[in-house]
Amino acid sequence: NAALRDVDPEVAEQIDNELRRQQDGLEMIASENFAAVAAMQAQGSVLTNKYAEGYPGRRYYGGCDYVDVIEQLAIDRLKALFGAGFANVQPHSGAQANAAVFHALVMPGDTVMGLSLAHGGHLTHGMKLNFSGKYYDIVPYELDAEGRVDMAEVERLAKEHKPKMIVAGWSAYVRQLDFAEFRRIADEVGAYLWVDMAHFAGLVAAGLHPSPVPHAHVTTSTTHKTLGGPRGGVILSNEADIAKKINSAVFPGQQGGPLEHVIAAKAVAFKIAATDEFKDRQKRTLEGARILAERLMQDDVKGAGVKLVSGGTDVHLVLVDLVDAELDGKQAEDLLKRIHITVNRNSVPNDPRPPMVTSGLRIGTPALATRGFQAEDFEEVADVIAQLLVGGEGADIDALAGRVSALAAKHPLYQDLAPLA
Ligand code: PLP
Repeated sequence: NAALRDVDPEVAEQIDNELRRQQDGLEMIASENFAAVAAMQAQGSVLTNKYAEGYPGRRYYGGCDYVDVIEQLAIDRLKALFGAGFANVQPHSGAQANAAVFHALVMPGDTVMGLSLAHGGHLTHGMKLNFSGKYYDIVPYELDAEGRVDMAEVERLAKEHKPKMIVAGWSAYVRQLDFAEFRRIADEVGAYLWVDMAHFAGLVAAGLHPSPVPHAHVTTSTTHKTLGGPRGGVILSNEADIAKKINSAVFPGQQGGPLEHVIAAKAVAFKIAATDEFKDRQKRTLEGARILAERLMQDDVKGAGVKLVSGGTDVHLVLVDLVDAELDGKQAEDLLKRIHITVNRNSVPNDPRPPMVTSGLRIGTPALATRGFQAEDFEEVADVIAQLLVGGEGADIDALAGRVSALAAKHPLYQDLAPLA
């Protein structure tokens, strides 16, 4: 029963370092967030010891009385949050949830349509090195010149290629998708519609983004992005025959024992996601992204050749287009790191630079909203980012870093977590 600091001081020290990194800097990676301490307590619990292959009430191991209650709580809360008739909370990650959908609904070699990775799709939507691109015949669709999914083009491709499944969803896109139109097209060609709402699930839960759940045959999500829970995946559906296929694709199709400690943390996160406080947080997330977009479209930024993909945002992130700027994506990411703002470089549509460099940045507001940022704080951080992008290597790094530190100090994070080392 020795403490971590005694058993493994090297790991304890690095966890403390990571805590300080999260506290002292500003996290603006669009897919990241801060899980509640309550969720982390559930995750760091004795539940990690328990095998529970199967589903609540139908396990292949004894001693599942308590994990059954916990997993059922997670299922019921998730169903209520999104108005779904069925939920599976066992996927270890978003990629696992997506793999289970392929496993359940299509066969290797079948045609599947998804947004191309280079235009904002996810690896699991058909990237050639991913299982999805290796085992399935992928027909990618792309964004139009305005940076939007062109539904006429989706329909044309669907009619030409007759996919068995169409995936709607994204990792880097700033507009809302038309789920009803996707379903109409899917029905017309006899395809399943799968929506991957990993990025915008928190906005949907708060009622601030249209829900795909009534339209899709199956919806997947991660639980750690805008939803703000532990790292993990979930699957939802309203169709009983699909529900059965999904359950058997997750276990025994893809996974063995579920991570009941993570499922407990998911249950906590789903409870939090049903609160007014969560809704307020999602509102501030959207407001922050809008403020950032507006600042990054002002003349000084434009003058530096910096643009926004699609000229704005309707969601929790902006995509900065650096094709005509002096900085490339890697340089901009590194400069922001020097003032303790963490973002990720990201390809823009038709990016002339390779994926390790890119000509874009993806900047998101969910983690700052969780930290308590209000409109004036988003205005301040937006101005810091704008000044850095305009100034480039010549920007006043010390002054900008000081403004970042002041914002971090104004909104303390995980104050009650004691150091482990
Ligand atoms: N789906 C989408 C749309 C994503 O953006 C991501 C992660 O970035 C995933 C799935 C995969 O989630 P995970 O990293 O948990 O496997």
